[in-house]
Amino acid sequence: MLLRVGACVRTNYNTGPYVVKKLTGPCTCVEYHDHINGRERPSKPHFHMVVRLIEGRRDSYDHYLNGYTLDGHSVWGNDCLTDASQYELF
Ligand SMILES: [Zn+2]
Repeated sequence: MLLRVGACVRTNYNTGPYVVKKLTGPCTCVEYHDHINGRERPSKPHFHMVVRLIEGRRDSYDHYLNGYTLDGHSVWGNDCLTDASQYELF
């Protein structure tokens, strides 16, 4: 299991590393694009996270990572999160 509060992760689309501040779920809410297109099919169980960039106290904004399983795979696409725990040293 990758995701937990305090975990350090990066995305497969080159953002991060982030530290997980808040982890909520599992839920089966409708994926955003389906929702705006009127398709109300439930999603596979997933989690929502509030994360912060680890590097640079310059960026203290919350970021959101939605729709991931605890092993870091998106239920809505091919995105995945990988462990960046070496950053916990800093
Ligand atoms: Zn959800």
